[in-house]
Amino acid sequence: MQEEIRDCGHYDILVAGGGVAGVAAAVSGARHGKKVLLIEKSVKLGGLATLGLINFFVPMCNGRGKQIIFGMAEEMLRLALRYGYGDVPEAFVDGKIPQETLDGYRAQGKLPPRYMTGYSADIFALALLELCHKEGVHLLFDSLVTRVLPDPQQPGSLQGVTVENKSGCCSYYASYFVDATGDADLLRRAGVPTLARGNYHSYQTLAISLESCRRAAASGDIGQATFYRHGGGASLYGGGHPTTVPLYDGADAGEVNRYLIDNQLELLQKLKTEGRKERDIVALPGMAQFRTTRCIQGDTVLRESDAYRHFADSVGAICDFDRRDYLFEIPYGALTRHGCGNIITAGRSAAGEGYAWDVLRVIPPAILSGQAAGTACALALDQGCSLPDIDIPCLQAVLERAGVTIHFDDADVPEISEDRHENND
Ligand SMILES: Cc1cc2nc3c(=O)[nH]c(=O)nc-3n(C[C@H](O)[C@H](O)[C@H](O)COP(=O)(O)OP(=O)(O)OC[C@H]3O[C@@H](n4cnc5c(N)ncnc54)[C@H](O)[C@@H]3O)c2cc1C
Repeated sequence: MQEEIRDCGHYDILVAGGGVAGVAAAVSGARHGKKVLLIEKSVKLGGLATLGLINFFVPMCNGRGKQIIFGMAEEMLRLALRYGYGDVPEAFVDGKIPQETLDGYRAQGKLPPRYMTGYSADIFALALLELCHKEGVHLLFDSLVTRVLPDPQQPGSLQGVTVENKSGCCSYYASYFVDATGDADLLRRAGVPTLARGNYHSYQTLAISLESCRRAAASGDIGQATFYRHGGGASLYGGGHPTTVPLYDGADAGEVNRYLIDNQLELLQKLKTEGRKERDIVALPGMAQFRTTRCIQGDTVLRESDAYRHFADSVGAICDFDRRDYLFEIPYGALTRHGCGNIITAGRSAAGEGYAWDVLRVIPPAILSGQAAGTACALALDQGCSLPDIDIPCLQAVLERAGVTIHFDDADVPEISEDRHENND
């Protein structure tokens, strides 16, 4: 017998995926008075930044004492620290390190600290839930977005999605859709072209040991109790990736399983050599830790050569997390594709190529692109237009009023940039 698909209602904006990008999109839409549904397949908010145990905001400054990334990225960083451990460097006052402090670092031959912080993953997840709840976002946990329902009247647009959860199969309808699944799941199902990239052998878990607990007790800082333990330990740039192991394709079920099984068995093998009462694994990641799976082949694809380029459709200035000085902007065109009227993406699936994809996908830029996507949906609804055709100056003005720096300051473009990677991801 064929199961009936229940109609569960219509929303202004439907956001698929409750990672940091999805939460930023949903909250932004709700703040513009829209009826927003946020659908998350797991049982907590934050995606990789909580469930995936990637509990670290990469630098949001230029490495010379000036904060570059603001807007909801700053708001969420503050939220991550509100109820749990972690701190940004005290040297920063109102988004910059005062000149006399910078002079002090220089006199000692030191580089200034970067504006970044670790935080408690699960306390951040709770704080994100409180934020969504306060802003009136409708939340649907433990629910997997499975299929898209194309709009027969508007080719390239959606009218709804189907969702599988404990109640069975239901359909949700909306005027605009944000694909914040991190893997461009909605886009792919809607037939929107995507780009893909493989992943290295890396897997991090949260651990404690007798030694780390002693350190935490001595310092009075619970954040020192946990540390990362690895299965595969390859770096962001592939250093340490075994030559015999093919890259993992995070958009293929068989490959996701190969990644999980290889890495979990490797971790267990390491643990077997240690005293079983001297350490513990506090948490295994609740989702595969893939940096890049799929991204939209957007109207614009950000490239490394776009460093220091101003985009007329910028929705936020961002910085390179690993190399001091390097500045970028997120083009709105990296979130949209002409012909796809009411679908936009954000976060890990914003269009980037090579290292520029890495610069775009980390937590602070992912939040900014989420904020832009949610705001764009709200404006498109008000203007009655398709997402790629939105009035860009109007979008930029609204984002600016919400605290986003749209363009980086040319005064911060150095004559020569330092090309040294520091591996902050
Ligand atoms: C190993 C590693 C190290 C990293 N290190 C750092 C770092 O130190 N600092 C930093 O800033 N960034 C780091 N990053 C990057 C950063 O964590 C992510 O890029 C960022 O958190 C992405 O956020 P997102 O919201 O775009 O996607 P995700 O966090 O992937 O969120 C997507 C959400 O969608 C949900 N979802 C997926 N499919 C569906 C579906 N069909 N239906 C419903 N829900 C769905 C998922 O459950 C998830 O909650 C790292 C990433 C990795 C993998």
